[in-house]
Amino acid sequence: MRRYGWNFGLRSVNAPQPHQAGINAAVAARVEATIRPDVRALTAYAVSKAHGAIKLDAMENPYGLPEPVYAELAAVLARVPLNRYPDGSGDSAKQALRRSLGLADDVGLILGNGSDELLQIVTTSVCGSDAVVLAPDPSFVMYRLNALYAKARFVGVPLRADFTLDVSAMLTAIERERPSLVWIAYPNNPTGGLFPAAELERIIAAAPGLVVVDEAYYAFSDHSFLPRVRDYANLAVVRTVSKIGLAGLRLGYAVAHPAWIVEFDKVRPPYNVNALTQAALPVLLSHEAAFARQAHDIRAERARLAGALTRTQGVVTFPTHTNFVLARVPDADGWFAGLRAAGILVKNLHRTHPLLAQCLRITVGTAAENDRLLAAVSSLS
Ligand SMILES: *Cc1c(COP(=O)(O)O)cnc(C)c1O
Repeated sequence: MRRYGWNFGLRSVNAPQPHQAGINAAVAARVEATIRPDVRALTAYAVSKAHGAIKLDAMENPYGLPEPVYAELAAVLARVPLNRYPDGSGDSAKQALRRSLGLADDVGLILGNGSDELLQIVTTSVCGSDAVVLAPDPSFVMYRLNALYAKARFVGVPLRADFTLDVSAMLTAIERERPSLVWIAYPNNPTGGLFPAAELERIIAAAPGLVVVDEAYYAFSDHSFLPRVRDYANLAVVRTVSKIGLAGLRLGYAVAHPAWIVEFDKVRPPYNVNALTQAALPVLLSHEAAFARQAHDIRAERARLAGALTRTQGVVTFPTHTNFVLARVPDADGWFAGLRAAGILVKNLHRTHPLLAQCLRITVGTAAENDRLLAAVSSLS
C-alpha cells in the first residue's frame, strides 16, 4: 500500500522511512506555528458517507435527472473544449439564466461555484477585520464560518423557541451592532420556516450595510425577494440550483444592483464556474418544467411526511417551506443511531445549538424512501 501519497513522482515509498517520524513532528510544529489559531481550532465540515444508505441528510432532490435530459446533455458536454479555460464571465450561462428568471438587463448577476462560493465572495468583499456580520440563529452555518475566515465578528440573534423570527431583537441588534452584512435564509435552514416578508422589509430598511436574502429553497416556497432587488439600495438575493436536483453541478447565483455585482466580481476567482457546468446550464434550463414538476412532487411528499411525523407519539414537527422537515424527537441520538441501523441517514442537530436540542433534520425523499423512514420511525417510537 502506498502510504505517502504526496511523495509521488519523487520516489516510490512503500514503507515508512527511518526519518519519517522526525518529519512528521517537524511538520506538526510548523503547522502549529504557521496556521491561524482560529482555523486550527475548527473541525472540518463533516459530510457523512452514505455507504448505500437512504440519504435523507443533505437536502438533495431524490429523483435523477428528468429522462429526456440525459442524451441531450451528453451530446453537448462531449463537445466542450476542456483544453481551454472556461468563459471567465460565464456569458452564455448567464444569458440562459436571465431568460429563465425573467431578469431585466439593468439587474446585476454573478455566478458562483455553488452558492457557498458566493457566500464567501460576498463576505470577503464586505468585511474587513472590524466588520460585523449578523444573522438569525440558528441558521446556515456558513454565515458564521465565512465571517470567521474574514476575521469579522459574527452576531447571531436567537430565533424564538418555536424558530420564528424575533424581529424586534433583530432590529435592536442591528441598531447596536451596525452590521456591514446581514444574512437571512429565506426559507431558513436548518429550521425550515419562512420568516414574514414584512419583517424582512423592516430589517432591510434598518440595516446600514448589505442584506443578503439566501433563497436556496426557493423552489419549495411560494415567496421570493428576487423581484424586489430593484426596490432597495442594499438588497442582494442568492440562490443555488443544488436543492432543485443539481447539487453535483455546483452552480449558484446572486442578483443585485450592478454596482454591488461589480465589486463582487473583483473578489471572484477568474474561472470559478467550470466549462462543463456552463455548457450544461442552458440545456438544463430548457427542461425547467421537468425540475418544477419534481419540486411539486417533493412538496406533496413533504406534506405527507410531515403529517405522518406529526401524528407520531412524542414527535414535534415545525412548519416547513423547504425540502426537509425539522422534527424534535424523544431521543435524537438514539433515533439517529436506530435510523442508521435501518439504513437511513438523517442529520442529527442535537448539540449543534441549544434551541435544536433533540432535533433531527429529515430531507424529503422519494415516496418509497419516506415509507421506509416512517416504518423505521414507528419501530422507534
Ligand atoms: C444548501 C445551502 C446553501 C449552499 O448551497 P450550494 O449552492 O450547494 O453551495 C446555501 N444556503 C443555504 C441556506 C443552504 O441551505
